[in-house]
Amino acid sequence: MDLASIQALASSGRLYPAVILDGGDETVRQEASVALARTLLCAAPEEAARPCGACRGCTRIAWPEADGAPFHPDFHVLLRDRRTATSAEATKQFAQAAYQAPFEASGQVFVVSEAATLTPEAADALLKLLEEPPRQSPRHFFLLSATRRDLLPTLRSRSLSIYLGAATALDEDAVRELAEGFGGPIDRYLSDGSPVDLLLAAEALLASKGWEDPRARRPWALAAAAIVRDVGDRQRAPRARRALLDLASDLLDAPRWRVRGISQARLLEGMLARRLAG
Ligand SMILES: [Zn+2]
Repeated sequence: MDLASIQALASSGRLYPAVILDGGDETVRQEASVALARTLLCAAPEEAARPCGACRGCTRIAWPEADGAPFHPDFHVLLRDRRTATSAEATKQFAQAAYQAPFEASGQVFVVSEAATLTPEAADALLKLLEEPPRQSPRHFFLLSATRRDLLPTLRSRSLSIYLGAATALDEDAVRELAEGFGGPIDRYLSDGSPVDLLLAAEALLASKGWEDPRARRPWALAAAAIVRDVGDRQRAPRARRALLDLASDLLDAPRWRVRGISQARLLEGMLARRLAG
């Protein structure tokens, strides 16, 4: 089953309560869950096409990391709260809303952003909710994962799986170009420690496209891939290699720190300084 047919099920109110959205890349999965949530929580009259895109429901449902994101009280997203895991505490807190009535829509939507990172205890808490859903009004759960095979069999067996297609690969030429621009200033910085070279290295990573969208993850992923490539291509001291690999990992996490008012340039400069200075 594909996204279009599941949208049709959602708009006719016949969607299975727990759905795994797998495949695609992170952005594709997030956008699919937002589109489905709009369909399910749209406030347009029954006979209208859903999502209408204009009602109070549709306009406020958005992925929570966006700058000044609109807010809908019946759309809940569980983000990974540990470095590599989604904790049981966060999951239980997230699940609590399901035991209350919806605030303003006719139902509620719950999205687990990285279902593969649920700890076993967190998965149990979620499972309990899927097995004994509160009955008063429709609750829909979307479990997002790069591949459903990473999810516990107990979660898989209670969910419908929707495959969103292959992940789009990063453009190799763009990665190589960024790596070349980044490596020079970093080499100079490592030999003489001038902060100007750190700024130039940050600027080199900003040369790719796509930064104008504050929610985009792709430019961060490109920059991280360029750093990893640079580490592979150049001879450097083990300590510098370690610091650069840590920096690449920071970058993959960066979209969640793009809070209001901090530009990507400032964020990048801060991350470089934190890993490489001193
Ligand atoms: Zn609507």
